Amino acid sequence: MSRDNAPHDDADLRTRLIHAGSPGLRDGAGPVNVPVVRTSTVRFADSDAQHRLQARRGAGDRVATYGRHGLDTHQALEEAITTLEGGYRTLLAPSGLSAITLVLLALLKPGEHALVSDSVYAPVRKVDRVLLAQHGITVEYFTPGRDALPELIRDTTRLLYLESPGSLLYEVLDLPALVAQAHARDVLVATDNTWGAGLYYRPLALGADISIQAATKYLAGHSDVMMGSVTAASADVFDRLAAVHDALGLSVGADDAYLTLRGIRTLDVRLARHQVNATEVAHYLAQHPDVVQVYYPPLPQDPGHALWRRDFSGANGLLTFSFAQIDPRAAGAFVDALKYFSIGASWGGYESLALEAAPERLGEHASWRGGRSAVRLHIGLEHPADLIADLERAFEAVRERLKRSA
Ligand SMILES: *Cc1c(COP(=O)(O)O)cnc(C)c1O
Repeated sequence: MSRDNAPHDDADLRTRLIHAGSPGLRDGAGPVNVPVVRTSTVRFADSDAQHRLQARRGAGDRVATYGRHGLDTHQALEEAITTLEGGYRTLLAPSGLSAITLVLLALLKPGEHALVSDSVYAPVRKVDRVLLAQHGITVEYFTPGRDALPELIRDTTRLLYLESPGSLLYEVLDLPALVAQAHARDVLVATDNTWGAGLYYRPLALGADISIQAATKYLAGHSDVMMGSVTAASADVFDRLAAVHDALGLSVGADDAYLTLRGIRTLDVRLARHQVNATEVAHYLAQHPDVVQVYYPPLPQDPGHALWRRDFSGANGLLTFSFAQIDPRAAGAFVDALKYFSIGASWGGYESLALEAAPERLGEHASWRGGRSAVRLHIGLEHPADLIADLERAFEAVRERLKRSA
């Protein structure tokens, strides 16, 4: 008899994440981890089996009849992400951005309209310009909390696309209120959940229809994988997404699916340490004379703090700060002086990163007051005392540099 180690549905999410998608045993034994199943061709025992499996796939069952559909490794990852998000089913995409594009293309037709919060991951605007606008789909950016959503919803509005907290400045949105207003007018709600990673934020439980993640970030967690996921709350929405996923031929490698699943097993302990380290750094920055503002929702003075406390169960390693110096060269000089923080985009790996926040990107956010330069930090798993010493050295280097060239 095989030993079933699947936790009960009422077990804590952290317990379920350790076991979700685990392989069963065969002949009384088996590995802990799901094998990496790479294939293009799926072989059938006979034509009967082929027709039977194709019919099941046609009826919507999670059955692979071709390599592009993804076999055991992919299915295990999908199950783990579905558990994490608390959804109906999950689709994998080759990157976070392709997951976003899938959702926008699947749910919007020519002549239709989407409302998008202004603090979204900036390349969403590129998808709009390069793809949606060309296909007669209208995207309108708005500022939740300032603009009244009901007044913006048109007869042609089909989708409300959000990200909370937002990219760069971490604006926290009142998701339950926005969902209620959207659903009252039959508008679907999709949200980018990369920041909360599913563990610290569960948008589907708050009413959203779709949760998207750049699994590239905290799920994979080691800066070595590109991966996206789309989790639907219901079968209806899932079927619409799955049809377009299939038509686009989206497919991810089994090795990358394996690495992402391996990352999920340690998501809880990694995120907890990212939060502890980032909180320490945020407090250090908040009292620093060369810093005007620190953007990190757990800080009591952050504008999103109350909503974050209400709807989130934790925070990650991302924070942004703006310089007291008005000089636009401050950010560049600062990141150049850092030793443990590499200069690089993306985040969610175990290591610290620093990036100048581009003024044109900041300018897309209504919450940005402008005028200063800013740096986004990803606080990694190094010892926070070493990170703070590194930051202190960089502040001194900026002061020196600006003094010399004054
Ligand atoms: C990085 C990121 C993405 C895109 O993910 P990729 O895997 O890099 O394509 C999408 N949304 C957010 C919030 C991100 O930070």
